[in-house]
Order: sequence, then C-alpha cells, then structure tokens
Amino acid sequence: MTSDPIYLDYHATTPVDPRVLDAMLPYFTERFGNAASRSHPFGWAAKEAVEEARAQVAALIGAAGRDIVFTSGATESNNLAIKGVVDAYRPKGDHVITCVTEHHSVLDTCRHLEQRGTRVTYLPVQADGRLRLDELEAAIIPGTILISIMAANNEIGVLQPVEAIGAVAKERGILFHTDAAQAAGKIDIDVTAVQADLVSLTAHKLYGPKGVGALYVRRRAPQVALTEQVNGGGHERGLRSGTLNVPGIVGFGRAAALCRDDMPAEGARLAALRDRLLAALRHELDDIQVNGSLEHRLPQNLNVSFGGIEGESLLMALNEVAVSSGAACTSASREPSHVLKAIGRDADLGAASIRFGLGRWTTADEVEFAAGYVARLVRQLREISPLREASSSR
Ligand SMILES: *Cc1c(COP(=O)(O)O)cnc(C)c1O
Repeated sequence: MTSDPIYLDYHATTPVDPRVLDAMLPYFTERFGNAASRSHPFGWAAKEAVEEARAQVAALIGAAGRDIVFTSGATESNNLAIKGVVDAYRPKGDHVITCVTEHHSVLDTCRHLEQRGTRVTYLPVQADGRLRLDELEAAIIPGTILISIMAANNEIGVLQPVEAIGAVAKERGILFHTDAAQAAGKIDIDVTAVQADLVSLTAHKLYGPKGVGALYVRRRAPQVALTEQVNGGGHERGLRSGTLNVPGIVGFGRAAALCRDDMPAEGARLAALRDRLLAALRHELDDIQVNGSLEHRLPQNLNVSFGGIEGESLLMALNEVAVSSGAACTSASREPSHVLKAIGRDADLGAASIRFGLGRWTTADEVEFAAGYVARLVRQLREISPLREASSSR
C-alpha cells in the first residue's frame, strides 16, 4: 500500500477545518431553510446564520457585514468586480489598469473586456515580482476607472504594495479592486488601511469549503456602483442573484473567524517552517533560485527554480510530496507559468520550479522530509539531464 504524499499545495486549496465542517453540518439537514424565505422559521434560521457569517467574513478584512456580497468564489468575485465596474462606469471612462502576474480570473476577464472595447494596461513587474508605483502612476489616463492589483500572488506569494496602490487610486479618484484570495486569513488585510473599494475572497483557500466566496463592495466614500452579472431574484442587494449556499456561507464565516484568531501565531510558525525548508534546500543543493521577493511574501510560500533539470521530468518524479510546478502551474492548462516568465525566468528555469505552499497541518517533520526528498530527486535528475552541461557553464 502506498501512503498519500505530503500535502504542500495549500495555495491550490486547503482542507476544510473540522471545526468549520461541524458548523456547516446542521445547515444541510435540520436547518435546511432558504435564506430568502421570509414567512417561516426555516427561512429565518438560515437568514440569521448567513448574516452572522457575513459579519465574520467582513471582520476578517475590517469591513461591515453590509459591505459583503456572497459569490461562488474568487473567480466570480473578480468577474463581478471588474465587469461590474466597467459596465457601471462606462459613461465616465473605459480604461482599466492591472498587472501581468494577476490570477487568470482577472487576466481572462480583462482580455474578454478588451474584445468588447475596454482599454486595459497590463503593468509589468520587477524581478522581485512587485510592480513599480511610478509605472502605475504613469499608466493612469483621463479615462481610467479601475485599478485591479492582487494583494498576494498565488504562485510566488509576493505581496504587492496595496496600501500605496490604494493611496494612488484614492488621490486620482480611481476605484481600487484587490484580489485577496491568497492574502486574506494569512496576512492582515484591512479595507480602511488599504483604501480598497472592492476585495475578492474565497473560502477554500482559508480552510473553508469550495464553491463559496465573497466580494467586498465599498458603500460610502465613495459608494461603488456595480452592475450585476447574474440576474435573478435580486439576492445580495441585487448584485448576485441565486439561492444562497447557506452551509457553505456558514463554513466560510467560521473559517474566517478561525483565521482571524490564528493569524499572528500561525504566520510566525509557517514563516519559520518555510525558512527552514529553504535553508535545507540551499544546504543540499547548489544552483537554486528563489522566485520573487522573500521579504515581501506570504509567510507560507516558497517558490524555487532548480538549474540543470527539465521541468517535466521533475514533475513526473515528484510522487511523495504534493506540490505545484511551474511546468503546469494551473492544473487546467499546460502553459508554462506566466508569473515566472514575468519575473524574468527563462522557459527552462520556469518549468523546473516548485511551489511549496505550507498550511495549518504542516509539521516540521514534513518540511524536513520534503526538503530531503526534493534535493535527492533534483540531484538524480541532474545526473541524467541533458541540460546539465548548459547549467554548469552558466
Ligand atoms: C484561487 C484563486 C482565485 C480563484 O478562486 P476560486 O474561489 O477558486 O474561484 C483567484 N485569485 C487568486 C489569487 C487565487 O489564488
């Protein structure tokens, strides 16, 4: 019998915390009501649970419950934020600024809007994965209505300077949307400090269930106008129709509350484990490169490229640790990573990379094992790799 590999892919998704599952379970069975049912206690109980969860999710980002719109996840939240603003502000302008390292749910939404006439600027990033504020400011034109920049990158964990970006946006009277799917629950994201107008969240990256997310929508100073993208019964203040996923939302709320309590201690614990992982890899291997800034980074992320090996063979050989590779960063596509390309990694180094994502159940033993296992594999692959000559002469 083979045992499961060690899970170090917490950026892809996280297991549901058992405490979250416990909170959800009654809402599948005895408290099954539709939160939109106004005329009986089944509906009232569901509505009450949804409102409690709404307050819990809001509290994670320093917002109020009434600012939160529940969605099916961060992909939908990003679509609603960007398309919703572009539709609502069309009379005012038609230009959006984003960044080349954004998640596909932002980039593909922007590409789609470009086909319908919206102008989009894709800011480059520096070698450390962060954008330059002067380039952001230079990209602003009279028709700019929205800046959409993620808080933390899902591949390299790099944090964008969201507070500074928010300040620029505010000063220029432009709305600021941030995709905080990776950042929320891991580092402090406060809508007041960041001056964010729209924030995308998802439950399954913070130990909640898949298929539920949220969009924070600022209600005053300024009040953000948003055109709904799903029409129906007028749920969620008309911004997102459809019967609410009550168990999922309850789980999201509980997961957010747990993260809020754990964040400082858990961040320090995972940063120490992450640093140990990197130290062990560096001790055992030469010719390795950390992708993106180590300083401005999620505590639980490490992304490393290994010189002198082929990405495909690395991915094939990795049986005992569950990680993502630059050779296939998004499981749905086989494209090499657009993020690693943007920070200047060539195709070989981009492919021969591993994203380690640590999380709530990661132990020191697992990290030690993973480092030794990966180092052994890389050494073996280097011995047989045709790229070895090229690498040693580099
Ligand atoms: C996972 C992720 C998304 C997509 O979230 P879903 O809830 O899976 O749709 C969007 N942005 C970032 C940065 C992510 O990490």
